[in-house]
Amino acid sequence: MRTHRPGVLRAVDVGTTVTVCGWVAHRRDHGGVIFLDIRDATGLVQVVVSPGSPSFDTAHRVRSEWVLQVEGTVRPRPEGTVNSELPTGEVEVAADLVVVLNESEPPPFPLDDRRDIDEVLRLRHRYLDLRREPMQDHLRARARVNREMRAAMDAQDFVEIETPMLIASTPEGARDFVVPSRLQRGSFYALPQSPQLFKQLLMVGGFDRYYQIARCLRDEDLRADRQFEFMQLDLELTFADQEDVLEATSRAVLAAAEALRPGEVRDVIPRMTWHEAMERYGSDKPDVRFGLELHDVTEVFESTEFRAFAGAEAIKAICVKGGADMPRSRLDALTERAKSLGAVGLVWIRVREHQQIESPVAKFFDEAETIGLLDAVGAETGDLVLIVAGKRSMARSVLGQLRLDLGRPPVGEGGLHFLWVVDFPLFEGVDESGRPISAHHPFTMPHPDDIDRLESDPLSVRSQAYDLVLNGWELGSGSVRIHRPDIQQRVFSLLGIEPEAAQERFGFLLDAFRFGAPPHAGFAVGIDRFVAILEGEENIREVIAFPKTQSGTDPLTGAPSPIDPEQLKELGLRIIEKP
Ligand code: ASP
Repeated sequence: MRTHRPGVLRAVDVGTTVTVCGWVAHRRDHGGVIFLDIRDATGLVQVVVSPGSPSFDTAHRVRSEWVLQVEGTVRPRPEGTVNSELPTGEVEVAADLVVVLNESEPPPFPLDDRRDIDEVLRLRHRYLDLRREPMQDHLRARARVNREMRAAMDAQDFVEIETPMLIASTPEGARDFVVPSRLQRGSFYALPQSPQLFKQLLMVGGFDRYYQIARCLRDEDLRADRQFEFMQLDLELTFADQEDVLEATSRAVLAAAEALRPGEVRDVIPRMTWHEAMERYGSDKPDVRFGLELHDVTEVFESTEFRAFAGAEAIKAICVKGGADMPRSRLDALTERAKSLGAVGLVWIRVREHQQIESPVAKFFDEAETIGLLDAVGAETGDLVLIVAGKRSMARSVLGQLRLDLGRPPVGEGGLHFLWVVDFPLFEGVDESGRPISAHHPFTMPHPDDIDRLESDPLSVRSQAYDLVLNGWELGSGSVRIHRPDIQQRVFSLLGIEPEAAQERFGFLLDAFRFGAPPHAGFAVGIDRFVAILEGEENIREVIAFPKTQSGTDPLTGAPSPIDPEQLKELGLRIIEKP
């Protein structure tokens, strides 16, 4: 059907007779001569149909997105018409024959690289949207990432194994999607939130090193970086500790990053403890592309008279370089933002010459406090200092967010900054009944130095869990797993999972652990987010072929949609309307 693809033609092809196929990207009528830009996945080439050509009438008739087969000869473009922006810009195809393979209705939006097209319209006609260059690029980049990571895993002797989609529930902290069973009326499968339990069973099964490019499903509210279904590079290793997991995962992600953004990554991913990340960045996924770090100034105000600071568990501050001239309206907006994030207020201080400060609360600070503060945050003339006081966790998270609001570059800028965050706490706070909540999942091994405090002071216990962060996005999580039934039992009981309930929900795993479970550990890397960052996109929908909208619908297929009464009956289901 074709001898060449439009995007590959170059000056060396001049004189060659070619047949190319593709869509009409543009059609221009220039005083009798018709120019058609023919596009396929490789790019586009200009086709010229002159008035004498037997196909002239056909060329006259064609419109955008019609599908053509063009026979002709490659020739140099006339002087002055070379397009250096286009890889094929030195040549054109002088058409002898234009065959219409299919017509097209006018597309509902232009298929150039314009960014302002309504997203629902794009998703409704995703097949057209996919013809656009950015989508073509993103999905090819995505395939490359998968290929590189697979190759890295294969090279490290990991075995690719598929795990089932119709399973019993796997706890990852989200709601399950469930599938009703026709054969066992009233029973439901859960779709996997992750292959977690199966990969652990594979370790008991002696597979040593497993990986999978796995689809995971979680019924959570959708955001720019979250879809109901997403892909992970999921991996697990036996006789392995945290070091082994970090090493194996680093190799895979660095290989992919190097392939897409050559020369931008180093060989080793730096590490930071969770505690340090929270103290310095107010976040467990610190964006280390820029400074604006948090400082602890609690001690400076140890004996302060200022009511808002006295007795605060922590006083944290950031220094905005050159920010002293920020207008009052902006400072008021920042204060409102801080309050909406949970702070009682935000103290701002403009630093003027000779360490003079300008602030509504300046009168409450004595000289030693002022100098101590400016020293602690490294403030100089012309800077702005922002302070939040109160509970440590609140002060960190509020300033961590203000830091992002003030300094965060677009995700595609400032290079690629990977970071391992290690030593996460085992639990993240408590639920309404006062029970600890797993920070990762209930199969995470406590830190060996802290395990004795499991019952006496659970919230102080660190875990052997770690996250991978890239440019301030959480790219993945993993942990060393509990392989001993006694420790697993202790964690379950802290989480309020009674032995009978544990047996009912995860009995199969606990049973397996009674038959010589090896120590094991693993990780999962979110592929959608990874590709989005590598491609400089803030929204993962841009790197997914057929994503759902923010409200969880697919404008293309109409999913989710009601099913017919027959099907409901067969499944033994009845719909109860929302009151
Ligand atoms: N199952 C975890 C997740 O999907 C990853 C892991 O612990 O390996 O987040």
